[in-house]
Amino acid sequence: VGTGNTDAAGSRILVFVRLRPMSRKEKEAGSRSCVKIVNKKDVYLTEFASETDYLRLKRVRGRHFCFDSSFPDTTTQAEVYSTTTSDLVEGVLQGRNGTVFCYGATGAGKTYTMLGTMENPGVMVLAIKDLFAKVRQRSHEGNHSIQLSYLEVYNETVRDLLSPGRPLLLREDKQGTVAAGLTHYRAYSTDEVMKLLQQGNQNRTTEPTRVNETSSRSHAILQVIVEYRSMDGGSIVTRVGKLSLIDLAGSERALATDQRTQRSIEGANINRSLLALSSCINALVEGKKHIPYRNSKLTQLLKDSLGGSCNTVMIANISPSNLSFGETQNTLHWADRAK
Ligand code: ADP
Ligand code: MG
Repeated sequence: VGTGNTDAAGSRILVFVRLRPMSRKEKEAGSRSCVKIVNKKDVYLTEFASETDYLRLKRVRGRHFCFDSSFPDTTTQAEVYSTTTSDLVEGVLQGRNGTVFCYGATGAGKTYTMLGTMENPGVMVLAIKDLFAKVRQRSHEGNHSIQLSYLEVYNETVRDLLSPGRPLLLREDKQGTVAAGLTHYRAYSTDEVMKLLQQGNQNRTTEPTRVNETSSRSHAILQVIVEYRSMDGGSIVTRVGKLSLIDLAGSERALATDQRTQRSIEGANINRSLLALSSCINALVEGKKHIPYRNSKLTQLLKDSLGGSCNTVMIANISPSNLSFGETQNTLHWADRAK
């Protein structure tokens, strides 16, 4: 086991939606909520506040989506973690690879969900905390080592977020695709990890034209490798599992394929990794034989960690505001196709 989750039958991806609370800025702009979550599963995109929203809604009036779970704006970080990721953490301890993505427009809550804050740590931190606890409980069974690396894909360039510097080259290895020279950080405590990740996040590339908006085009990837070793009779048993937790680039411009604007978006603005990820996910869900991993840096890096039976989790983040109606609709459609 260890690497290669690709089953012959179509893969099932678990898809979740997380609605964030209305921000002060959105309230001050007089926005209203256009999303309703019912029964922790169903998402209704209904209300409209302006004429343009009404015209758009005519096509999708009463549009209803259903996901594995949908989180209303009162959901805690712990609930999001335990519903979406804790099973994958257990799998990694058994030597399986797992991947969790946060997808959505800039400002929709991806970084909050993945990294969180000191007071409300997100999935990345809670996963590592849980791993530490589980490994401690099982210390009598054998020896576990936990290593972290945190990297960025920006404009098809891979960089080490824990040790910023020159771009890293990808190469194929027994372990799958690896970034040559990437720092593997041996982690011991959760507090230390939170600080490390926050530092790493500050190393994410910001766009020259939008200095106040952090990293809307960069993908941040935390990889946690858990290695297990024990003696069984006379022989050594080893297992390696890898958990990839990914704060994706903002989905807004990458998927803007409007005929009139397509030209100006080309090259400069299309996010190749995000588009390639969509293609891979759709191919996996449809049970296709050929999965186009080679089309981008992000998908190359995740080649051994996508697919399989429920080892891939997507969290689609959305804003409740009618001002983000279009983006929310795009995100929900995208998430719906990943099921
Ligand atoms: P993104 O990473 O998708 O661009 P952020 O995670 O930075 O978006 O979220 C935008 C803002 O909304 C941030 O100030 C963040 O703290 C806040 N926010 C996002 N999700 C939540 C949530 N579930 N609860 C409270 N605040 C949130
Ligand atoms: Mg962010």
